Amino acid sequence: SFEEKIAKACRMMSGAYTFMVVTKDSLYVVRDPHGIRSLYIAKVDEGYCISSETCSFPILGGEFIREVNPGELICFNCEGMKSSQIIEETKTKACALEYVYYSRPDSVHNGLTVHEVRKQCGYYLASEENIEADIVVGVPDSALSAAASFARTLNVPYETGLIKNRYIGSTFIRPTEQQRMQGMRVRLNAISSVVKDKRVYLVDDSVVKGFTSRRICQLLKEAGAKEVHLRIASPMLKYPCLYGADSTAQKDLAAFNYTVDEMEQLFQVDSLRFLSVEDFKKCVPEASCLACCTGEYPEDLQDYKDEVKE
Ligand code: SF4
Repeated sequence: SFEEKIAKACRMMSGAYTFMVVTKDSLYVVRDPHGIRSLYIAKVDEGYCISSETCSFPILGGEFIREVNPGELICFNCEGMKSSQIIEETKTKACALEYVYYSRPDSVHNGLTVHEVRKQCGYYLASEENIEADIVVGVPDSALSAAASFARTLNVPYETGLIKNRYIGSTFIRPTEQQRMQGMRVRLNAISSVVKDKRVYLVDDSVVKGFTSRRICQLLKEAGAKEVHLRIASPMLKYPCLYGADSTAQKDLAAFNYTVDEMEQLFQVDSLRFLSVEDFKKCVPEASCLACCTGEYPEDLQDYKDEVKE
């Protein structure tokens, strides 16, 4: 049967995936056996809706049913919904970076709202703080939940010091460095009256290549900030994602190439600190993939071994 063919193909594959196959009378959905990528089901009117993020369901007037289990194949047709566990031995390792920046804050993974997880990251980041600053500014949009919680924990005023241009997409997904540079210039702007002569805690979600971080810090200094203390609400990303979330090669990752001191100089900030892996683990579910922070990949790397260095 068609179902058996999908199952057979999936047993031959390794890695992270979710996919759908549409035939004349059925819709099949599959999630990888480690559940690295997410997939959810909702009921909408007389039909079903499948999405990698739960935030899409209320928008469509859908009622959340459940997540697709790791290694599960579900067939939807006029008879309803039929599930089969096509790969039995599964050890869930859902992508922890969904909470950091991939997902919207109103999405829920593994029972945890992304916004709440980001707040926890901000809380733990602040718990280790030891310098004085006048205001906290978050980088829109994905760092705002962590930045607000960071400010609340330290009892330092939270300010909107950066404004995002709503009419331009993410610089991260642009294919060339030159396009990313152009995108960055029009994507964010600093409000000088907020940051001028201030010692600023700047909270961002992550540092990938470091290009964006450097430019944002530069923006604040150009707008008159007296000091910029960059705080990152996730651990250092030293290892490549081999599961399709990000295509940045390890040799291009800032945290693989530089120490924290070197990054401080590169970004021209007065100080820089990351959330520790230990604290990040307290914020995300225990069964999470953290490979890009720790180098511990959920499965054998096979052909990709040479792409990962200590
Ligand atoms: S390596 Fe990182 S980005 Fe890739 S799936 Fe694992 S946690 Fe997510």
